[in-house]
Amino acid sequence: MREIETVRDARAESEAWRRRGLRVGLVPTMGALHAGHLSLVGRSLAECDRTVVSIFVNPLQFGPGEDFERYPRQLDADLAALREAGVDAVYTPSVDAMYPAGATTRVRVAELDEVLEGECRPGHFEGVATVVLKLFEAVRPHRAYFGQKDGQQARLVTRLARDLDTGVDVVVCPTVREPDGLALSSRNVYLRGAERETALCLFRALTAANDRWLAGERDAGVLARAMREVLAAEPLARPDYAEVVDEETFRGPGRLAVLAVRIGGTRLIDNHRLGEPLTAT
Ligand code: AMP
Repeated sequence: MREIETVRDARAESEAWRRRGLRVGLVPTMGALHAGHLSLVGRSLAECDRTVVSIFVNPLQFGPGEDFERYPRQLDADLAALREAGVDAVYTPSVDAMYPAGATTRVRVAELDEVLEGECRPGHFEGVATVVLKLFEAVRPHRAYFGQKDGQQARLVTRLARDLDTGVDVVVCPTVREPDGLALSSRNVYLRGAERETALCLFRALTAANDRWLAGERDAGVLARAMREVLAAEPLARPDYAEVVDEETFRGPGRLAVLAVRIGGTRLIDNHRLGEPLTAT
């Protein structure tokens, strides 16, 4: 597995593969890898001839007072897992290489970045869009893999790839969950004691909405209320939002149940396309 730190080396490697007619897959991550990340990696390995995983904790997508400094970093364990998986190259640019002094250009996906996650985390999606475009430019993949777990991000990146003629085919992969239903997330390590149990309220809220949908309910307001009732019963949980929105615009009404909940100092998000099977694993 090649370990690459510069744009120049990333591009040289990719161009060499492309000249040989090989298809290149990219899996962007912030590290602290878990089985959710590895499912994206597995999909890329299966569909592409070469797979590059980027690990970069992107300061631009964290707001003031968010968890950039304490975000879990475990590069050695991540590299071991990626080597074991059979990844061809890992791209780990430094913050200074990614954003040298004077680099003020930003990418914005309008409208989609104004609601839900975009509203709760001002500037977050601008940071995401900017880093993703830079990763696409460095690695020049044919395909890039994102998780449905971060549903609004996956939609935003799909639109960015199309709007800016990147030629990158964005593939969205299903959410991987713990056996009890909690969506895997690098931030789950923050959960302490009773918080881990409380965190199940996200899955229970999605399940409540899904059950209502399967019983024939189609009113987005009623479905959202079913989620909020579950969350309201949890004293440790403070919801930022729980809505049922359109999958393209992330505005209501629609059939995508989305929610963000704070549990202690940890902010968790999850979503589910109502009517589809919602299983723990
Ligand atoms: P992150 O390192 O949190 O930025 O995530 C990197 C990629 O992995 C993103 O495309 C995420 O949506 C995806 N991902 C994170 N958690 C999961 C999960 N539980 N299931 C599937 N994909 C995930």
